[in-house]
Amino acid sequence: MDKQVLDKMLRPKSVAIIGASATPGKIGYTVVDNIIKGGYTGKIYPINPTCTEILGLKTYPEIEQVPDEIDSAIITVPAKVMAEVVEECGRKGVKGLIVITSGFSEVGRKDLEDQMLEIAARYGMRILGPNIVGSLSNSDKFNGSFAPGLPFPGKASLVTQSGALLIALDMATYTRRVGFDKLISIGNMADVDFADLIEWFDEDENTTCVSLYIEGMKNGRKFIDAARKSSKPIVALKSGVSAHGAAAAASHTGSLAGAAKIYTSAFKQAGVIQATDLNDLFNRTLTLSQQPPMKGDNLLILSNGGGVGVLATDAAEKYGIPLKFAPADVQEELKKHMPDFGSAKNPVDLTGMAGNDWYYQTTKFSFSHKWTDGLVVLYCETAMTNPQEIAESIKKAVDESGLKDKPITVSFVGGEKSDKAMGWLVENGIPAFGAPDIAVNAMASLRDYARLQEYKNSDHFETDEKAKQMALDVIAKARADNRDSLTEIEAKEVFKAYGMPVTSISLSKTEDEAVALGKKIGFPLVLKIVSPDILHKSDAGGVKVNIKDEAGIREAFQTILKNAKAYKADADIHGVAIQEMAPWGTEVILGSVNDPAFGPTVMFGLGGIFVEVLKDVTFRVTPVSHAQAEEMIGEIKGAPILAGVRGEKPRDKKELAKAIYQYSCMIYDLQDEIKESDANPVLVYEEGTGLKVADARIILKAK
Ligand code: ADP
Ligand code: MG
Repeated sequence: MDKQVLDKMLRPKSVAIIGASATPGKIGYTVVDNIIKGGYTGKIYPINPTCTEILGLKTYPEIEQVPDEIDSAIITVPAKVMAEVVEECGRKGVKGLIVITSGFSEVGRKDLEDQMLEIAARYGMRILGPNIVGSLSNSDKFNGSFAPGLPFPGKASLVTQSGALLIALDMATYTRRVGFDKLISIGNMADVDFADLIEWFDEDENTTCVSLYIEGMKNGRKFIDAARKSSKPIVALKSGVSAHGAAAAASHTGSLAGAAKIYTSAFKQAGVIQATDLNDLFNRTLTLSQQPPMKGDNLLILSNGGGVGVLATDAAEKYGIPLKFAPADVQEELKKHMPDFGSAKNPVDLTGMAGNDWYYQTTKFSFSHKWTDGLVVLYCETAMTNPQEIAESIKKAVDESGLKDKPITVSFVGGEKSDKAMGWLVENGIPAFGAPDIAVNAMASLRDYARLQEYKNSDHFETDEKAKQMALDVIAKARADNRDSLTEIEAKEVFKAYGMPVTSISLSKTEDEAVALGKKIGFPLVLKIVSPDILHKSDAGGVKVNIKDEAGIREAFQTILKNAKAYKADADIHGVAIQEMAPWGTEVILGSVNDPAFGPTVMFGLGGIFVEVLKDVTFRVTPVSHAQAEEMIGEIKGAPILAGVRGEKPRDKKELAKAIYQYSCMIYDLQDEIKESDANPVLVYEEGTGLKVADARIILKAK
């Protein structure tokens, strides 16, 4: 990220509009008009070869004729003349280009985009867009866009991939009173992307929370790294999940991958809070931009009505901050400000008799008390109270507490007066919402943020060079053979190099060899077809289990070869694998895909119907730490099965976490070689007795 270049681009002291127009209704006119109307105090240079003045400003036929330095150029000329214009900007020494024009990769003209990027790179210029609405900054009074006006002022900043959404949200900021400092449209993200802006916002003194609307991204790893380093909360709404998922649906494991879950785990790994819809994005953004994180689990709820208190209590459990009763000393103090029929437990019910003073006293006391990690204040409009006065009482109590590192959210349920009072609260830095569950959800965002900060730094990774070299040797042999997949024997060698416990396995070419090997390994045995052309071996009748003697080996050997030939006449058959039969255990599956955005990604789930029917699986972007591997195990719905059900002993979760970790190291290290892989099944045994990889599969990237 070039901080100075982005400073100039997005907070310019002078701006040129290339493609400025004197005709109202044209984008080139609207942008000039918007910059003026927004109250911009820098210099504005409209560039237009045919007229001399636009909206009272002198125009120049070419940017190179402007007798002044230009920080940012907003470009609206057609795509076909873009190269020329970008070249001129380069010669002029402009560093930041805001390219509003569309007609690039979004319509299949990536060539035009690449050409523009190539020229920009030559001059050290950065490009926002193309195909965008523009960039807006309240603190610079800079509306460099064709959006209607600067947003309702505040401390959040939004980056959106959808321009139309920017325009719509821009106006909604006023009705919702969610304040933004900057709104940035990034369109095709040919150059400047989410990661660049996350980094840039980290140093922007006017931004306290970064809000993202994401459709898809090209470099997920860069995003994760930038988000992890950010010292500010980031909220993201991801859409367009299903179409994206199709790309990875090539194989069995891939079809389970569905990018949605990968984004969700990537957000978690990066410490990013995920919003569920637009309303949620707004609510969380507002809250995180105004309030500090909630550092512990003690949530206190004050209300003047039982109903809202119960709703808030339900929400607290739903959103991961279940209520506990307040300690005795807190209850005693609170009782002084309520009638006998009130409740000082938690939620605290001050009853409908609560007026300004009770709200003031109880808010001040509970907010200041060391037990409280976060406070939610609820109010139902009553005939005897004035919402504005209640709002002022709450605000006064918070101010007088002098605390800046503890969060508060508020909900008023009522009519117009309540709405107005909430608007006043929001303008004064206290997030307020029209429903109790939303106020609790907002508080949960602050709790999630604190938790994610601990989570995101939990991984540490080092390549095991020796293991990697062993694996690469195996892969090189298959490549030399012109194959794009490994046999089970080879795949197990790779798994083993990374320390995973695989069943012992050897290749036999003849029946006699099979018998000799079988006797050495010991009964019972499993025999399987070994062919790079048969990847799902059971489907081809290529697996025989529980073979107990020599006669069994001979029979299985013949049947497997016969079945394989019947399944695929021209299959290249290496022979039959003789392997140790692992005892019965709980079946789990590990899988990996190379996600188009996030790269090598590991999947874990229980085997059989759990994975195939219920899709009860979880993902992580690699590398994965031990702690994250443990979390994956606890995260699936079937987790209790591993803990031991119906009298069964708990499974060896420690060794399972270790295997997930080893597997993630393997696919991370070998990401240039492995397209996808799985271990299906892995048999997990009782605590203390480990696990066995019974089957392994590795598909190589085409080279
Ligand atoms: P496929 O290519 O069809 O996935 P597998 O190697 O997974 O073939 O074998 C099919 C099934 O046979 C497995 O799901 C497992 O139940 C059993 N199996 C395979 N290998 C072993 C083994 N070494 N020990 C015990 N059971 C095995
Ligand atoms: Mg299998």
